[in-house]
Amino acid sequence: MYIKDNIFKKILNNEINSNIIYKNKYVTAFDDINPKAPIHIILIPNIYIKNMNYVKKSNIYILGKMLLISSKIAKLKNIDKSGYRLIINCNKDSGQEIDYLHIHILGGKFLGNIICNNL
Ligand code: AMP
Repeated sequence: MYIKDNIFKKILNNEINSNIIYKNKYVTAFDDINPKAPIHIILIPNIYIKNMNYVKKSNIYILGKMLLISSKIAKLKNIDKSGYRLIINCNKDSGQEIDYLHIHILGGKFLGNIICNNL
């Protein structure tokens, strides 16, 4: 997919609507359009990284920011105490649909034990 047609890139550039819930110099977070839990937020870096396979040493700071802001958003959404799950998909077998590195922040209900049940 050509980067200009990338949905998350368009959200970042305000070319399509989304419910942006957090934005700073490094990251942008918005509600997932097809939520899999009561809270389902997508967090992306403001620079384009295709997926985990394309992370470079120079991206370490931004990846740290992504994790830090994920925990801030969990607090903001009041799921920090009840619990939440962060997911990063990479390529076909993970089900990655959008070629733009992103963290899913999921919570607001019991999500099950993914390691025991789904592997
Ligand atoms: P992944 O399978 O990890 O690539 O996840 C892609 C996620 O993006 C899915 O959970 C979709 O529901 C979500 N998504 C797709 N289009 C949009 C959109 N326009 N706004 C918000 N979320 C979207």
